[in-house]
Amino acid sequence: MSIKRIGIIGGGQLAWMMVDASKKLGIELIVQTPSKNDPAVSIAQATVLAAVDDAAATEFLSKECDVITFENEFVNLDALSLLETEGVCFRPRLAALSPLLDKYHQLCYLWDLGLRVPQFFALEKSADIESKIEYLGFPIVLKARRHGYDGQGTFIVHDSATFSTVVNKSNTQFLVEEFVPFTRELAIIAARSVNGEIVTYPVVETQQEQQVCRRVIAPADITPEQAAEINAIAHTILNSLQAVGIFGIELFITADGKILINEIAPRTHNSGHFSLDACETSQFEQHLRAVSGLPLTNTSLHCPSAVMVNLLGYENSHSDYSKQRQKLIDIPQAYLHWYGKTESRPRRKLGHITVLLEQQNRDVIESIIQTIESIWYPG
Ligand code: ADP
Repeated sequence: MSIKRIGIIGGGQLAWMMVDASKKLGIELIVQTPSKNDPAVSIAQATVLAAVDDAAATEFLSKECDVITFENEFVNLDALSLLETEGVCFRPRLAALSPLLDKYHQLCYLWDLGLRVPQFFALEKSADIESKIEYLGFPIVLKARRHGYDGQGTFIVHDSATFSTVVNKSNTQFLVEEFVPFTRELAIIAARSVNGEIVTYPVVETQQEQQVCRRVIAPADITPEQAAEINAIAHTILNSLQAVGIFGIELFITADGKILINEIAPRTHNSGHFSLDACETSQFEQHLRAVSGLPLTNTSLHCPSAVMVNLLGYENSHSDYSKQRQKLIDIPQAYLHWYGKTESRPRRKLGHITVLLEQQNRDVIESIIQTIESIWYPG
């Protein structure tokens, strides 16, 4: 079947960044997203204005499209399963999403595959919580099992009083993880095709502040053995899920070189944005290729190194930050992507900038980050 129209659940910046690639491939995109102000709405072929977990809207979307994919995984899987049994084509298929949507289930899944993850347990009223926490020792990491993103729902907790406050304040289901004393955070973007072919992007270093991604450096400064280990992890996960499309895998590396998986996102990912400007094929094009049944293409960097910096909101405002943006695009070899959001809020991702570099030099990278952030953030 030749895929001509793809439905995307979610119309945020991840869908927005697929639009150029879709035009190149001659594919139309229709997004299902709750607000007419969402980034992809103005440039997609059409929009179904509805929440991403509105399965009735997805049923309507499915009638307009050959295949449905996701830029947001906070869907109602049970309701979508009915559509899948009726023949609606989801890529990735829903069985590849279902072990991932609850972070506790995701860790169990990875553990069962024999992959290394932080020690963890689900926070249940009946469980012997105190002794388990004592065993892990503070700090611990408390995570909402569902619907966490950009660090919302993730708390690094240093004592039992704070632990009780966080847990009692909400009726969210939590899991607890050991705090991993990582030296760096890494990520890999991988794609799997309908035929089971897998391609991976160069492993990157990601830098988070207050649990939100601030910067990505490509490639990560790791050994070839570590890169091979991370590639093997990506293959194991995507093959086991029989995934189709792009998946983002976040990892920790410790001082003794141990690699642990933090989490998997069943979609394009912030840690792969550098690929838009720095790689032969962007993660967005690769995703569309995979879900359309096209062959996957070259993931290599076409420059020695690149750095991507997120432009995060730091105030409540309706500004379009045009002066700062002008200064940013004047940086040599810089590519600015502004998502066109009408409202800025602290920590909201408003855009990103990628700078291509002639060499892989830490001092140069630090200096570019410093330049960008001093233009972007006040003070
Ligand atoms: P989200 O899904 O909201 O992005 P994550 O689970 O990826 O949340 O956590 C966000 C950040 O919190 C991570 O990038 C990392 O910096 C920190 N973090 C998460 N889990 C741990 C852990 N077990 N040990 C240490 N830091 C962690």
